[in-house]
Amino acid sequence: MKYEGRRKSNNVEDRRGMSVGKVGGGIGGIGLIIVVLFTLLSGGGIGDVISNVGNSVQQTAPQSERPYISSEEEDELMEFVSVVLADTEDVWSRIFKDNGLTYEEPTLVIFSDSVQSACGVAGASVGPFYCPGDHKLYIDLSFYKELKDRFKAPGDFAMAYVVAHEVGHHVQTLLGTSQKVHALRNKVSEAEYNAATVKLELQADYYAGVWAHHQKNAGYLDVGDLDEALTAANAIGDDTLQMQARGYVVPESFTHGTSEQRKRWFKNGYKTGTIQGGDTFNAKAL
Ligand SMILES: [Zn+2]
Repeated sequence: MKYEGRRKSNNVEDRRGMSVGKVGGGIGGIGLIIVVLFTLLSGGGIGDVISNVGNSVQQTAPQSERPYISSEEEDELMEFVSVVLADTEDVWSRIFKDNGLTYEEPTLVIFSDSVQSACGVAGASVGPFYCPGDHKLYIDLSFYKELKDRFKAPGDFAMAYVVAHEVGHHVQTLLGTSQKVHALRNKVSEAEYNAATVKLELQADYYAGVWAHHQKNAGYLDVGDLDEALTAANAIGDDTLQMQARGYVVPESFTHGTSEQRKRWFKNGYKTGTIQGGDTFNAKAL
């Protein structure tokens, strides 16, 4: 993706080197357990929406500040995700306006090791996530390496897809869709709740595709970018992850959708470029 010289978002919070102090008991400890558990339940994949832990925003845990020395590659990546975020702001502001709505820009928090969010304390191992409680996206830039090495999904546009997917969860929060799904928790069976979560995740993939559509139209995509995003979507499908982890799949436990579904919904959004057509909740088939 062409990003040199393009507008960078002002809504990026650099919290690298400010990892939350040793988590051992207290509020931070509870948060950590809940967040990690939730992530494990959702397959240990990426792109999770972490619902609020309890109803109240947690107090900030003590933070240890030390100078953070970033590599050149990381600085470049920081610039890249800032451009991606800026572009999601432009695209979604326009789409919301066209639909008579006002887009509220989210904040992207870049962290290292661990971070305090309104959804609790999270370690880098949870992968990128969106917290509806504070309207912030949280990404540890080391995830870029993980995409490349563990998920075999290299390329800058794989990372752009991840950011755009998390922004998709923000869009769902602004539209009230996430709240409806999270309200089902403890009201329906686990299998039913998981099925609703899959729809939410596939819709976030669709929204990521919508964003990519506008990148293409503006002439920012490089050859191979679409494939990079699709490779990433394929690599983090529930079936693929479960097969790698256990050697078999349990469809009722899917929370993000299969590789095929994730790719397809991303492509659907990429084709249309509009918010309409992304209603995974009423789609005849997922
Ligand atoms: Zn997600």
